[in-house]
Amino acid sequence: MSFATPPALHLPLSPRAGEFYDLPHPTRRGAGPDIVAIYIHIPFCTVKCHYCDFFSVADHLHQAPALLTALDTELRLQIQHFGPINPETIFIGGGTPTLLSPTLLQNLMNMLHQHLGFSSLNEFTIEANPNTFDADRAKVLHAAGVNRISFGAQSFVPGELLALQRDHNPKSVAQAVQFARDAGIDNINLDLIFAIPGQTRQSWDYSLDQALALSPQHLSCYALMYEPNTPLTARLKAGQIQAAPESLEISLVEHTHRKLTAAGLSRYEISNYARPGRECRHNLHYWHSSNHLAAGPSAWAHHDTRRWKNVPSINRYTTALLADAPRVPIVEMEHLSAAQHAGELAMLQLRLRTGLHWMEFQHRTGIDAGKKLSQVLQKYDGLGYLEVSPQHLALTDQAMIVSDTILADVLAAFG
Ligand code: SF4
Repeated sequence: MSFATPPALHLPLSPRAGEFYDLPHPTRRGAGPDIVAIYIHIPFCTVKCHYCDFFSVADHLHQAPALLTALDTELRLQIQHFGPINPETIFIGGGTPTLLSPTLLQNLMNMLHQHLGFSSLNEFTIEANPNTFDADRAKVLHAAGVNRISFGAQSFVPGELLALQRDHNPKSVAQAVQFARDAGIDNINLDLIFAIPGQTRQSWDYSLDQALALSPQHLSCYALMYEPNTPLTARLKAGQIQAAPESLEISLVEHTHRKLTAAGLSRYEISNYARPGRECRHNLHYWHSSNHLAAGPSAWAHHDTRRWKNVPSINRYTTALLADAPRVPIVEMEHLSAAQHAGELAMLQLRLRTGLHWMEFQHRTGIDAGKKLSQVLQKYDGLGYLEVSPQHLALTDQAMIVSDTILADVLAAFG
């Protein structure tokens, strides 16, 4: 069972060694208005957590000034290519963006203000590690318009943080949240992980209690994933740790749902809960497969049927962009067929509690989802997992524990 967004679905084409793809031609010239979001990847961390397979590196902060210079060039090249960008949402992730010093954070904010239009912006999020957040950083971010912070809390139990090799102390989360609120940033998300080796229902309940005591507007609760080539997976294979039993994982999912719902948060996506109106708008763009750009090493972007990814290397990224003839260092380029695009859209929208709306889906893709999914509807008929109406299809709360299976069936139905 997985609560993470599914991995890339189509094998990317690869350019020859040392070469990069060109930015795809926008299907509509001056594509700025239909690009609703932009993601910026800052890949530095204090330590590499044992479960992490994001592109991030420890002990490389000395490369931050060069990376920001390269990022500045990348944004300039993208705007030359796509036209002005006036995003509704900006998301700075990583890595740990708040590992940047207040001065470098200020430089990053100045750069974004120089390149992007802010007139349509309604959500500006940055990810933060509780250990690397303070009043100075909070002030810089607030002054630049950041209005949402996503803190990687993960657990409030020291032994569980140790099992994950996180480097923060649970007490630092409350202080970090206070720094954000004191600066005027009141839209707070906490990320939590369940099914950690050694975790019990009581210890998970404790973490939920501690998180709720901070009155976050949003909680993301993901099951621990054993990704290939991570130290955690190596420890699992070596028999040094044991994965949580599936029965415990299911019981934690159900407990989470009951507890967070009772606390006034609603599940709006399989793994995400929010107070009314505080759903993450940036991620909603992803789940609706809206066009978004991205910048930074390993960042991936999507425009219509194209999806592309930058090189996951700081050295190659900065070398390509600081050259005399700079290039956006794109190393993966996918061109989705109409059926693939429709299948992905269906799967992503069904992660949301609002589900898939038949008419809107047909309007966007030209495909009748009701026909495509007729066998899936038959298979799950009467089991209580699907909410079907003349207007829409959605997964019910009971379907959360089997959502991966249902979503795989949905994807397969589109061929
Ligand atoms: S802080 Fe986040 S990005 Fe950095 S190593 Fe840990 S999980 Fe990965």
